[in-house]
Amino acid sequence: MTRTHAGRRAAPGIALGPAFVLPLRQRETLDELLAHPRALGTEEELELLRGASARAAAELEGLAAELAAGVGVDEAEIFSSHAAFARDPELLELAQEHVRSGASAVASIARAFAAFAELLEATGSELFGSRVADLDDVRDRIVAHLLGREVRVEVPRVPSVVISHELLPSQSAALPPELVLGFVTETGSPTSHASILARSLGVPAVVGASGIVAAVSTGDAVAIDGEEGVVHLDPDDAVIAVLEGRQRALLARSVELARLRDRPGATADEHPVELAANVGGPGDLDAAREHGAQGAGLVRTELLFEGRSVAPSVEEQAALYRSALAAFPGQRVVFRTMDIGADKPLPFAGRSAEANPALGLRGIRLHLARPDLFRTQLEALVVASVEASAADGRPAIMFPFVSSVVEFRAARRLLDDVATELGLGLDGIEVGVMVEVPSAALEAHALAAHADFLSIGTNDLLQYLYAADRLNAEVMDLGDAYDPAFLRLVASVAAAAERAGRWVGVCGEAASDPAMAVALVGMGISELSMTPRAIPHVKSALSLRTLDECRAIADRVTAVVGGPADVREVLDGIG
Ligand code: PEP
Ligand code: MG
Repeated sequence: MTRTHAGRRAAPGIALGPAFVLPLRQRETLDELLAHPRALGTEEELELLRGASARAAAELEGLAAELAAGVGVDEAEIFSSHAAFARDPELLELAQEHVRSGASAVASIARAFAAFAELLEATGSELFGSRVADLDDVRDRIVAHLLGREVRVEVPRVPSVVISHELLPSQSAALPPELVLGFVTETGSPTSHASILARSLGVPAVVGASGIVAAVSTGDAVAIDGEEGVVHLDPDDAVIAVLEGRQRALLARSVELARLRDRPGATADEHPVELAANVGGPGDLDAAREHGAQGAGLVRTELLFEGRSVAPSVEEQAALYRSALAAFPGQRVVFRTMDIGADKPLPFAGRSAEANPALGLRGIRLHLARPDLFRTQLEALVVASVEASAADGRPAIMFPFVSSVVEFRAARRLLDDVATELGLGLDGIEVGVMVEVPSAALEAHALAAHADFLSIGTNDLLQYLYAADRLNAEVMDLGDAYDPAFLRLVASVAAAAERAGRWVGVCGEAASDPAMAVALVGMGISELSMTPRAIPHVKSALSLRTLDECRAIADRVTAVVGGPADVREVLDGIG
């Protein structure tokens, strides 16, 4: 019999298929592994090391064979190469040397893998970034064997609905997109990473489904309804029939929307609105093209380096930025400098633990505290931007997590210094600020006096405005973009930018909501940057209203005295 679990809608769509329950990751940091104490004699530790490597390699080979027979050769090759790492004689010899000099098997394997990563980096290979994440996975598998932990396969073997307690970028990076039918998480909110990833893959997601991990096992039949935010376990024939019917209707609608692809974003009376894409990886570049994006309003550069334990070089970064510029000929490409910290930790930043990372050294604060990291990125951005030709995109740079004009000016000065040192000019490169901290929103007029543009990051602005962690399902109802106070704040930022003669965009998830987009345009927002698949939906909603109608809707939602439900009533039927 069907058992239904309620959560919150995080990405639209319907998915039916087997469940794949992602185990919670037990993972030590490199420092913890290196400090692992030795318990046995040299010969026993050596024996342990050889046995663990061989078992890990055999397991990975088995997995490769299984995948080759089932899903396909590409996925199988990943595991074959992992098996090769686990068996690599030089790596193993290096680790054994460390054991002979007195280290534990765990510390030795960690040290050998770290040395191997450095060696790989020295080759300057473009593949290096992805390889480090691979190396970490293999190392962790060997470590798990050394510690006698159960090693569970962490990727589905057939297309599945991925069910997990939480989903971190490092976990999703290991999931082959073609095997993911949808996501369900116990924690998280519509603005957490799993939700953003689901929308970018075009699969449904439900978050905040508490108790789901305990209620389902890998292989069980599940159906997720991303429209309603519910998960059906063991759906019966009646439920399946209803969901399949809705799935067909959604498909028909997407075929209809595809016809709008080459039409630029505009209201019914031709007031232009730039509809741009949020980009977090190479897959988004293809999706942006496919869905008719007019540029990229947010390139999340930190996601390009996910899983890396060594900082990417200027050359490697510049190559990635060049390819993003080449993907949007004649259109604006806004690079957000690395927003490291809080929900986006990056190992190479070498950060010590913070009691409260969301309120800690994040984004621009880390840039200013660690100018070495920041300068490398600025150099790469300036080099790639200056080289851009008329056939490429128009580069723009923006800084994340700005809370004051002082911070913005300091970062901009660093950018000027870097350009001067390189003997290059910044002409034609717009420099903007992300408005995602309430103090920045309240200082929008002052920021607009110093920046070329403002881009409102609604995901973080909501979390900080309502003091509601975007990763915590228990408080997700608090950070609702339909809350009138939030809408009034956004409208005030738009008005301040307009008075200063600066353009203002929205790059948070709120821009992907067609009804909200209509209200935002009415407030004076001229660029909406979103998950590429949302572009046709937003384009369609805007094309049905004149600018005056959008303004009237904006006036109505910002005048609401009440809560999100009252705003929802106004916006109902608009999307
Ligand atoms: C935001 O905070 O709205 C934003 C776009 O940035 P991110 O989601 O990457 O924190
Ligand atoms: Mg943000």
